[in-house]
Amino acid sequence: MRAPTANEILSGDRSALARAITLVESTRPDHADLAAELIDELLPHTGRAKRIGISGTPGVGKSTFIEALGGHLTGRGERVAVLAIDPSSQRTGGSILGDRTRMTTLSRDPNAFIRSTPSSGVLGGVGAETAATRLLCEAAGYTVILIETVGVGQSETTVGDLTDLFLLLVAPSAGDDLQGIKRGVMEMADLIAINKADGEKLAAAHVTQNDYRAALSLVRPKWPNQPTDVMLCSALEDQGVSDVWSAIERLWTRLDDDGRLEVLRRDQSATSFRHHVNDGLLDLVLGLGDEQLAGVNLGDLETAVRSGNLSAIGAARRVVDAFARRL
Ligand code: GDP
Repeated sequence: MRAPTANEILSGDRSALARAITLVESTRPDHADLAAELIDELLPHTGRAKRIGISGTPGVGKSTFIEALGGHLTGRGERVAVLAIDPSSQRTGGSILGDRTRMTTLSRDPNAFIRSTPSSGVLGGVGAETAATRLLCEAAGYTVILIETVGVGQSETTVGDLTDLFLLLVAPSAGDDLQGIKRGVMEMADLIAINKADGEKLAAAHVTQNDYRAALSLVRPKWPNQPTDVMLCSALEDQGVSDVWSAIERLWTRLDDDGRLEVLRRDQSATSFRHHVNDGLLDLVLGLGDEQLAGVNLGDLETAVRSGNLSAIGAARRVVDAFARRL
């Protein structure tokens, strides 16, 4: 594979962008060096996009929503990159989301770029890879970066660290439960949209909207003096989708105006730095053989931790100590 140049990325060359992302996702140290060099060069051309996280349980309508929203945005001259984090797939296992089968119209739109990021199993790594991919997309001229996560929990926190604003999609329900949405995820949301507010689900959507409003009044508000808005939309019928986007844009403008965006962006960069350090060091240690780690075998340690014969912290200290002795 020929490494892409900064100019190719800046010119919006899609195949160069795809190759650059492959470098970022690679575990080979030479690829990591090339990716770092490229991103360093591109850094002055990043940071101008709106970075928005979109989350919700599987089936809530995320792809339908993004397909509709993406169409509105490219219709207005925006260039949209969708980075989908798929927690069910391993680095080598391919992605179940399948870039081509979802968002069929948007994937053919020349002003949209869709990429699934398989979340790697053992190495973690989602945060670092997605942050680097997001920068590459910004340098390639994408003005809106939508980072989509499937499921609720860990990956939302990661996405929260990578984005300016976080939209939670929820489906209408019978009314008494909050669909397993963790309180933490609800607290993270800058905006909640009850999707599928159409047909026979419309009444249930109103009930769910009220439930969320009530639940939100009990949690710490994300925005000072302003309860999190709970809107209704139908991605399928394309009703309310552009209103949800207008609300996001208003929040984003407020962030920008009151200087909070700048603070957020600095935090995002610092968090990415820590993720990259973690990932880089972990790759380094995992790449060493037993003999280079003073006989410490990572696989044996993990087995001992799994079986309860060794504590996780104890096993980790052995690895860190063995590595430190090499220095
Ligand atoms: P995802 O798993 O969150 O990406 O959900 P999908 O976008 O794949 O949608 C799951 C199912 O819900 C599909 O059959 C969609 O057609 C349907 N769906 C999505 N949005 C809506 C909506 O606004 N109204 C209705 N009635 N169905 C929807």
